[in-house]
Amino acid sequence: MKNITIVGAGLAGSLLSVYLAKKNYSVNVYERRPDMRLSQSDAGKSINLALSTRGIYALKEVGIYDEIKKISIPMYGRMIHSVSNELMFQRYGKDDSEYINAVSRGELNRKLMNLAEKYPNVKIHFNQRCTDTDFINSEISFHDEITQEVSTVNPDAVIAADGATSAVRLEMMKIPRFNFSQEYENYGYKELIIPAGENGSFRMDKNALHIWPRGSFMLIALPNLDGSYTCTLFMAYDYSLGGKNSFEYIDTEDKLIEFFRSTFSDAFEMIPDLVDEYFTNPTGTLMTVKCYPWKAGKNTVLLGDSCHAIVPFFGQGMNAAFEDCVYLNECIGKYGADWDSVFSEFQILRKDNSDAIADLARENFVEMRDLVADRNFQLKKKIESELYKIYPDTFIPKYTMVTFMRIPYSLALGRGRIQEEILNELSDGISDVKDLDLKKADSLINMKLRKLELIT
Ligand SMILES: Cc1cc2nc3c(=O)[nH]c(=O)nc-3n(C[C@H](O)[C@H](O)[C@H](O)COP(=O)(O)OP(=O)(O)OC[C@H]3O[C@@H](n4cnc5c(N)ncnc54)[C@H](O)[C@@H]3O)c2cc1C
Repeated sequence: MKNITIVGAGLAGSLLSVYLAKKNYSVNVYERRPDMRLSQSDAGKSINLALSTRGIYALKEVGIYDEIKKISIPMYGRMIHSVSNELMFQRYGKDDSEYINAVSRGELNRKLMNLAEKYPNVKIHFNQRCTDTDFINSEISFHDEITQEVSTVNPDAVIAADGATSAVRLEMMKIPRFNFSQEYENYGYKELIIPAGENGSFRMDKNALHIWPRGSFMLIALPNLDGSYTCTLFMAYDYSLGGKNSFEYIDTEDKLIEFFRSTFSDAFEMIPDLVDEYFTNPTGTLMTVKCYPWKAGKNTVLLGDSCHAIVPFFGQGMNAAFEDCVYLNECIGKYGADWDSVFSEFQILRKDNSDAIADLARENFVEMRDLVADRNFQLKKKIESELYKIYPDTFIPKYTMVTFMRIPYSLALGRGRIQEEILNELSDGISDVKDLDLKKADSLINMKLRKLELIT
């Protein structure tokens, strides 16, 4: 039996081990952390994530979606909270059949590990930190965080799913002509909790992703199964960028309370431990990582955040990492254990698309924190959904292409940009969707979109 080493038992590494187990490989997964199923501590990042079509497809492909569905909450749209506490619901899809799912990162990761370990040919080794990789001799070393011993293995292939700060990628950076970029946002995030109401009830609409867009910063909240919500405050680090709306400025209890009371007053009433959480919880960083090639030597490859970490504003990082597993599985189907060919084709298939979702995610930050509350944006959304009804195969909203379809991200990015130009032209000079010039729309769509590759 061919022996594969996966570095990292995070979301992608755990799912990938199921794919490979089903193909009868002997899979050893090495994870730096202790077994999170024993400590119940969360993986350390955002407590809940939005799972959508691309991720669901992968989970279905290995037959584990039904298990994951049990721990997911559907969210049918955004619930916008204005400064004066008015609510406005913006649907994500065309109807209730299109939704994204809030799922706990920790629960999902634990379930994926349990499902992986049901296969006798999968073994997860915890407290094993990858320290060294020899791409020429196909050796990889792990430091045991408990015993302090170092062991070296020599598998047939290595797949590094060790996240945004990947140790394997760090080794690849020593290889000549390895391209790498890492860009931090001058924005950080802080997690806060809205606890459940009486008897575990939800204190806001349970089936929505709540957003408090405030121009240069925002608060969002996703529901949890126990009736609570995990809120995430996204805000500038530096005073020079965010002024009084920055982590640097808000450094005392009084400033924090004044800030929340005046900008998120309804949320403020629902976060009883605001002060404690704000000053105790770490301020998370947001970065985009791009690199190439993803393959080193003949039998090592990067996958997931290790080669394409993105900012979380399109809710696609995990979905893209799961989609990597789908594509890698297809390449293995085509080339078997010829890892050189498998990994070469995999990186070609995924690179442009991971670059595209990185760009889409950064663009969506502006949309979420600012534009969703803007009248012209709302008009364009109405025009967009009108055109989608009339041209369901040609004018498909960007959000739909990314979230509810599996078309390549690069196609969604390209078509999305052209559609934005069309929407700008059509919304110019009107204030209501009923004044939409359908003849002009038809001619613009014919001219700019029909000539492109079809979406099927
Ligand atoms: C605030 C926030 C919100 C997000 N929201 C969403 C969302 O709504 N939807 C979505 O799709 N995505 C979201 N993401 C992105 C998502 O979290 C990542 O894309 C996803 O976790 C990537 O999976 P991965 O397995 O590649 O990496 P990870 O999940 O980071 O797993 C990497 C694993 O490797 C282990 N590891 C690291 N170094 C080593 C080493 N040297 N040796 C051994 N093991 C190691 C780590 O301990 C970890 O278990 C969000 C991210 C953030 C930060």
